[in-house]
Amino acid sequence: MDFTEDPATGEFREEVRRVLAEHLTAELREHVGRTGTNHDWGLHRAVAERGWLAGALPVPLGGTGRSPEQLAALFRELELASAPYDGISNAMLVSYILGHTGTATQKETVMADLLTGRAIACLGYSEPGSGSDVAAAATRAIRATDGDGWVVNGQKMFTSLAEEARWALLLARTDTEAAKHRGLTFFLVDMTSPGVEVQELRTLSGKRTNITYYDDVRVPDAYRVGEVNGGWDVMLVALSFERGVAGGISDIAALHDLAVAKARTVRSISGEYLIDRPEVRERLARVAVDMEVAELLGARVAWAAGTDRLPAQEGAECKLFATEAYGRAADAIVDAFGSEGLRHDREIEHAYRVAPIFTTAGGTSEVLRNLIAERGLKLPRAR
Ligand SMILES: Cc1cc2nc3c(=O)[nH]c(=O)nc-3n(C[C@H](O)[C@H](O)[C@H](O)COP(=O)(O)OP(=O)(O)OC[C@H]3O[C@@H](n4cnc5c(N)ncnc54)[C@H](O)[C@@H]3O)c2cc1C
Repeated sequence: MDFTEDPATGEFREEVRRVLAEHLTAELREHVGRTGTNHDWGLHRAVAERGWLAGALPVPLGGTGRSPEQLAALFRELELASAPYDGISNAMLVSYILGHTGTATQKETVMADLLTGRAIACLGYSEPGSGSDVAAAATRAIRATDGDGWVVNGQKMFTSLAEEARWALLLARTDTEAAKHRGLTFFLVDMTSPGVEVQELRTLSGKRTNITYYDDVRVPDAYRVGEVNGGWDVMLVALSFERGVAGGISDIAALHDLAVAKARTVRSISGEYLIDRPEVRERLARVAVDMEVAELLGARVAWAAGTDRLPAQEGAECKLFATEAYGRAADAIVDAFGSEGLRHDREIEHAYRVAPIFTTAGGTSEVLRNLIAERGLKLPRAR
């Protein structure tokens, strides 16, 4: 593996920075902070218009095949700039799944809308009784008796971006007799359908997610994704893209840079700048070490994604390390700034509140450890 950045990636990175500088205005940040919605249509369309969404998919899947290094560079810049990018990663993820398993019609309609920035998607996996154990989903889809299609009833938890999304990639139980992994099917649910209800849910960090309800929602069979009862195969594709490929690595770098900049301007109670105190420098140095390791693990996922297999193992390792490192960094920086520093600083205090969300969303640390142990290290099953 070669760690030097090639000139094309360097130029691409510069272009991303220019687009972000143009779009990340104070108004945009105020709007994201107030609504808690981690998405902005202006930025989203700017990214789509440049073909950067389509670039996340290899050519055989219907994309334009930007290199994994450039995809990693895109997410790194989005995170360093604290850009609201959930719509971007969801559009790429659902397109990636449709590229793998979608029908020609789904590719021409939903995937085309996602890749050109006309629509975004949300992910309907988690339920009140099935978060980590996502295969225990109880939302039902049954064949409609009066014609083609399905009728969906149930409830999903944490359906982030449902307030803006046209499509939900929804996991539903289609067979109650089969083993739990084998009775699931994915559907694309049009969120404007009668019977869909979206209820806001604010997290500790201020970020908005949602509870979504599905009451006799009709879904044409043309919007079934993959085989009937083949949902788990689709889920494996989804999870390998989500972890490590679509961001989540450089939040710690953004936090490190923020803390270093503030430590140069904030004074301790005894008058010197925080950056001049040895215990503060030591804490920042530890964060910098973790940041480097997270970046290297991220580079490994990008490299694995460029081969012809799904980077499930590398992605789980990277997500586990990067999100736990973020939590350690938030702890260390809050300690370093102390009550005097924090009194004037909402950004660092916010990092402390967002850290547990990073280690929960997209697979908790415990679940990732089980996965790494069982699949990667071939240890006995946890249960
Ligand atoms: C901000 C946010 C946004 C999210 N966005 C989405 C979204 O858009 N779409 C979506 O579908 N989901 C989303 N999620 C859901 C997220 O993926 C789940 O919260 C996560 O999978 C954990 O599920 P849970 O909260 O039900 O916790 P539980 O599964 O109930 O877990 C509770 C605790 O038990 C531990 N635990 C569970 N099982 C095991 C085990 N086998 N071994 C050891 N420990 C275990 C967990 O690690 C955790 O500490 C989001 C969550 C958050 C917080």
